[in-house]
Amino acid sequence: MMIREKMLIGGNWVDAGDREVLEVVNPATEEVFAVCPKATRDDVEAAINAANEAFPSWSNLTPFKRGEYLRKASEIVRSRSRDIAEMMTMEQGKPLKEAEGEVIKGADILRYYAEEGERVYGRIIPNAEANTESRVIYQPIGVAAAISPWNYPIELLAWKVGGALASGCTIVAKLPSETPLSPLAFIRCLIDAGVPAGVVNALVGSGAVIGPMLLESPIVKKVAFTGSTAVGKDVLKNSADTLKRTSMELGGSLPMVVCKDCDMEAAVAGAVRRSFRNMGQICIAINRIYVDEAVYEEFLERFREAAEKLTIGNGLTKECDLGPMCTRSGVEKAIEHIEDAVKKGAKVVCGGKRPEGEEYRKGYFFEPTILRDVNHSMLVMTEETFGPVVGVMPFKDIDEAIALANDSVYGLAAIVYTNSLSLAERLAREIDAGNVAINNVDAGVINAPYGGWKDSGFGHEHGPEGLYEYLNIKHVRVRYL
Ligand code: NAD
Repeated sequence: MMIREKMLIGGNWVDAGDREVLEVVNPATEEVFAVCPKATRDDVEAAINAANEAFPSWSNLTPFKRGEYLRKASEIVRSRSRDIAEMMTMEQGKPLKEAEGEVIKGADILRYYAEEGERVYGRIIPNAEANTESRVIYQPIGVAAAISPWNYPIELLAWKVGGALASGCTIVAKLPSETPLSPLAFIRCLIDAGVPAGVVNALVGSGAVIGPMLLESPIVKKVAFTGSTAVGKDVLKNSADTLKRTSMELGGSLPMVVCKDCDMEAAVAGAVRRSFRNMGQICIAINRIYVDEAVYEEFLERFREAAEKLTIGNGLTKECDLGPMCTRSGVEKAIEHIEDAVKKGAKVVCGGKRPEGEEYRKGYFFEPTILRDVNHSMLVMTEETFGPVVGVMPFKDIDEAIALANDSVYGLAAIVYTNSLSLAERLAREIDAGNVAINNVDAGVINAPYGGWKDSGFGHEHGPEGLYEYLNIKHVRVRYL
């Protein structure tokens, strides 16, 4: 049965009516299983106006009251995690267990920001003059726009909704076209928790239509964008006329440095998880691995063995490590990067093709792929593949490893495996990235700032920094008479 979803404008769930619809495809079967209305220009305007009208009363609530709504929504998300996860697996492809983990993370993010909202303290600064002081207070910036992609449909939205609502902002979210269903179900939890009409609005449809309208509107004061660097640059240009506050979580090309003194088992496990999880469709997926030449062959062999053990399937019906990729174009890009590398001298260690067997006849399935004998003339080592493909090359010394890691326009995150404290410290300082994970592969934790350097963007999500993105600073100077 075809699912017919609605979008949310000013507290009303709006169906397609005579609007155009957007079709949602299950990447494991290539079947269209749902449709959503596509927002028209009038819909976008109505959503912006609704958020604007809701702003005075929402921003005047105490952070404790706003926190109550967010906590309640968090509980509702948790209680519906299985149903929402099934929807996510059907539209995005990730296995059910992973999808459920993401939904629960969405619930945790709402709870975290409910609490962080209560900790916006301001400060008092003594003045040179007697009886005079400076106070610094923080006030919500106004209507925020959230634009996010399909790889983590709920988590990336929750970072924005959590920060905006906790700080007293209202929000218009432009949901990813490939995966609108699970984010809509997540937003429904906020409405069911009693969040007043207009505080959250959710639009589905063309980024090229909705995006510029949100960005050019003088009512919208802030945009939180997660997506590719190319679209991010357009977002920035379109935000210039209204001098919008922007936070830009963009693409990456993540280096992993494997030192010869590391715990090899841990390094291999980390490499497998962070290269191939979610089919490499993670902004902080490992794209390039640099291994000390003394352990290069050992690492490659163990990495291949572990990668070949990963199970692939339709994550809705089979317990597996990897589902299909989300889109056909994603598979095509992965193949393009592999072919480019092979043409320039790389060798395929494993993968490089669609898995064999009847269950993979349809769907955007692809085997986890390791390339060796790679160099920086190849796309796989310089551009973001956003697929299950990773290049591995040896380095002679740490200076070379750092130079290779930094030889990129991107600077989102890096991963280092070593047992030497001084090497870990040096690599953490000298790699140009907003996040460095040492002896682990999870650079993003909810209460620490997460953001990119260089072409990976600027601004932060997660942590108190993620909340301050939605707050204006005001200096109040008082003389007591
Ligand atoms: P994308 O840039 O194509 O799209 C992102 C969002 O922008 C979508 O909702 C899309 O509809 C919208 N959009 C498209 N055109 C627009 C326009 N002109 N104006 C405004 N919005 C527009 O990205 P994608 O391919 O969907 O997602 C993958 C990218 O996202 C990768 O580059 C990945 O690294 C990046 N990403 C970054 C982070 C991070 O935290 N840094 C996290 C996840 C994904």
